[in-house]
Amino acid sequence: MKTLLLLLLLASPGAYAQQIPASTEGRTIIEREIACPVCGTQFYTKLNAGSASYDQRLDLKPVGDVNGPWLLPECPKCGFVIFKAGLTKAELARCKAAVALDDYKKALKRSSYYRAGLLYEQLEKPPFSVAMNFLKASWQEEHDPVFLKEDQELALRYFSDAVKAAKAQNEDLQNAQLMRGELMRRLGKFGPAKEHFRALLGQPGFKKNFLGDIAAFQVKLCEKEDAQPHVFQEVRDFTKPPHVRLWILTKKFFADLAAIFAK
Ligand SMILES: [Zn+2]
Repeated sequence: MKTLLLLLLLASPGAYAQQIPASTEGRTIIEREIACPVCGTQFYTKLNAGSASYDQRLDLKPVGDVNGPWLLPECPKCGFVIFKAGLTKAELARCKAAVALDDYKKALKRSSYYRAGLLYEQLEKPPFSVAMNFLKASWQEEHDPVFLKEDQELALRYFSDAVKAAKAQNEDLQNAQLMRGELMRRLGKFGPAKEHFRALLGQPGFKKNFLGDIAAFQVKLCEKEDAQPHVFQEVRDFTKPPHVRLWILTKKFFADLAAIFAK
């Protein structure tokens, strides 16, 4: 799990990102007045504070009490998404130019992380960081099939670039590889996704560990042509001995039945 926890910390851009911990408390929301670094407008914004406890889907979206990515402040006037506190002069100049672009103006109705992705593209951030923004945009926009597909395709493209650009076997590379496969499966590209996860299972970093369990679980999902989101708890259940898995399935069956009768 060390790698995945680390991924969580790496997953979020900006100053607020490092505050995603895994503890037993709920995530608290606070309100703060801040100033937009691009246009100077002062506005109140909601921010996350404190800790959170949740399971995650295989695309890293938190589920349970916390149901989305870390909040990012959005300027109500120019639409700039404040992805980081303390922008350098050079970054600020490029952000001002990015916000003035037609593509950005057209995206004002899109999610905060989609716009953060556009800003990261303009700032020429590493592909892994750009990919994480579009991945989070896909969590925010999953109610809209067109936006969701676009976000997932963009995230897939940048995770693929991150894999190509990797110079050594490290955690970023492993995480980018897992997300590549997950996104291919979610986009219904079952053949390539299955081939991808099978190839991962042959790599040393995916042997006899949780990453390998994820890859093996993903192979099964691809064989079933399952494009739905799934959670890590299912991977943990999947690796349990058969009699324990049967007991879990039985418990789930009766829980579902009780829920149906309760309606
Ligand atoms: Zn502004």
